Amino acid sequence: MTGTHEVFNQAPARVDVNEFTGNPALVDAVTRYGGGWAEEELTEIGALVGRAEFQRDAELANTNPPVFSSHDRWGNRTDTVDFHPAYHRIIGDAVAHGAHTSCWADIRPGAHVARAATFMLFAQVEPGHACPVSMTHAVVPSLRLAPELAQEWLPRVYSRGYDPELRDPATKSSAIFGMAMTEKQGGSDVRANTTTATDAGDGTWLITGHKWFCSAPQSDAFLMLAQTEAGLSCFLVPRRLPGGAANNFFIQRLKDKLGNKSNASSEIELDHAVGWLVGDAGRGVRTIIEMVNQTRLDCILGSAAGMRQSVAEAVWHVRHRIAFGRLLIDQPAMTAVIADLQLEAEAATWTGIRLAACWDGAEGSGETAAFARLATAVAKYWVCKRGPQHSYEALECLGGNGSTEQFPLARRYREQPVMAIWEGSGNVIALDVLRAMARQPDTVDAFRREIGLAAGEHSVFDDHVKSMDALLGRIRDHPADGPRLARRVVESMALALQASLLLREAPGNLSDAFIRADCPRIGVRSTARCRRASTCNRSSPAAERVRVSAVPPQWLRRRRRPTMIRTRPSPASAPGTPSRTLRGNARAFAVACCCACRAA
Ligand SMILES: Cc1cc2nc3c(=O)[nH]c(=O)nc-3n(C[C@H](O)[C@H](O)[C@H](O)COP(=O)(O)OP(=O)(O)OC[C@H]3O[C@@H](n4cnc5c(N)ncnc54)[C@H](O)[C@@H]3O)c2cc1C
Repeated sequence: MTGTHEVFNQAPARVDVNEFTGNPALVDAVTRYGGGWAEEELTEIGALVGRAEFQRDAELANTNPPVFSSHDRWGNRTDTVDFHPAYHRIIGDAVAHGAHTSCWADIRPGAHVARAATFMLFAQVEPGHACPVSMTHAVVPSLRLAPELAQEWLPRVYSRGYDPELRDPATKSSAIFGMAMTEKQGGSDVRANTTTATDAGDGTWLITGHKWFCSAPQSDAFLMLAQTEAGLSCFLVPRRLPGGAANNFFIQRLKDKLGNKSNASSEIELDHAVGWLVGDAGRGVRTIIEMVNQTRLDCILGSAAGMRQSVAEAVWHVRHRIAFGRLLIDQPAMTAVIADLQLEAEAATWTGIRLAACWDGAEGSGETAAFARLATAVAKYWVCKRGPQHSYEALECLGGNGSTEQFPLARRYREQPVMAIWEGSGNVIALDVLRAMARQPDTVDAFRREIGLAAGEHSVFDDHVKSMDALLGRIRDHPADGPRLARRVVESMALALQASLLLREAPGNLSDAFIRADCPRIGVRSTARCRRASTCNRSSPAAERVRVSAVPPQWLRRRRRPTMIRTRPSPASAPGTPSRTLRGNARAFAVACCCACRAA
């Protein structure tokens, strides 16, 4: 067929962009928290993951999912998972740039911040490979609890080489790790694990049972929990034993799950699989929690990276698409949506990088560790919960295109809920926050001190902190009310943390908009007054067209729409539902332009 129509008014492909330098929130946060020295490499990575070829690989890895083979053609058991070459290229690049373990291998100030940014850049474009990359990063603190195993495995884990072949570990110079805790009868409740380990008497243990979720089963080795006479214990279980024989680690099937299609998640059975004890027998949860702390942080970073992808794709589209005679970006209703998306993405980015910085130089130190303990759980709950709604709003900006699989946001929309489930789903994390506060009151003090760094900067923020304190006090005085109030208090703490960070670190317009839009979620007066100067000095065509000074003063005093002020999240509109107040507010529109220009 020829000449039926001309294609026009479609956005060009968003390729060959620099995903690092084009993301001011990430650039600013990395610099602020000590990772500025990594700027050159991050710029290189930003260019790499922004390339058309890399994006094409991300698509190929997700449209050609891994294939499991239990046996070879002669009937020998193989338990192999084959991946498209695009997947190997992506994970190879991520490992080459240290997205897995650069912060442990090359310890220096800002190393965790730089690694977090590297991880985010790769995860932004292809989240599936980020799962084994994250687990390989996260295994290090747990492995260190077993010095002999650490001596053998850490040099492989630190390697920048990627070698996917399963063979005798002694012949490998690199390794990828996974973790397997969840069983059919209990995931969050790992103490319900029925898998057992018996002492073989030669320094190894024989592990028998099953795991219901075991992601990246192609990995070289795993940390697993199993019951011993002393209680639940942690073991290192390799796929190949010294000498190269296959361990008794049998993949039953791959899960057909929500989220990316590039990563394999499996169900496995272990029949006297050989393992090595990590940490003390009976202290398995204590041992593996070191790994979980890191993967929780990576869930925050991964969700924040997803938010960045979402807003970047959305703003790209609306800057190129004309509807009703004008570019969408210039239409106030759309400018406000983009600003909302950017505020959320920016807050998540600052939060993730701030938490990564806790691990720099201050590993295990009192105040920082106490803050990280509580704040990581709080942020894991909130940032991961916000991800799905954020990606949904973003894909809607692309109209029908956003719903099609050839654009990346349909993929992102499926991905975001997964990070909320993994490493502690909503309730479990919220209850964990309560537990930490009750057992380690110093975590609350450290958290309050961090929030307090922005005290007096903004009246709405100050009011929000007061109401957060009231909630904390209520839970402290009436612990029985805790579980019922858990989500509410964690939401309040998360917003206080994000607002405090933005007030201290982000341009004034942006933090003001965030606080006005978000802090009222738990109910405070709307007599807002920012005590900071508006310091956003970035400009965009949109921002230049609408200046705050051009806004009639009576609009500046206009109160927020009352329906937006909620005293508690209702079940239907609990976390994930937008409660923004920017839309339809003329002053906010001017601010929105500044926020939107940071997204582009
Ligand atoms: C994509 C993906 C990959 C995964 N990969 C791995 C992996 O590699 N290794 C691994 O070990 N696991 C993995 N998991 C499993 C994941 O960690 C578990 O699914 C998760 O911990 C929840 O456990 P569960 O499924 O048993 O649900 P449950 O623990 O049964 O929880 C069900 C629901 O009940 C809630 N709940 C639980 N306890 C309470 C309570 N006391 N009060 C109120 N509510 C409660 C939870 O928040 C949840 O909403 C993966 C999961 C996903 C989605």
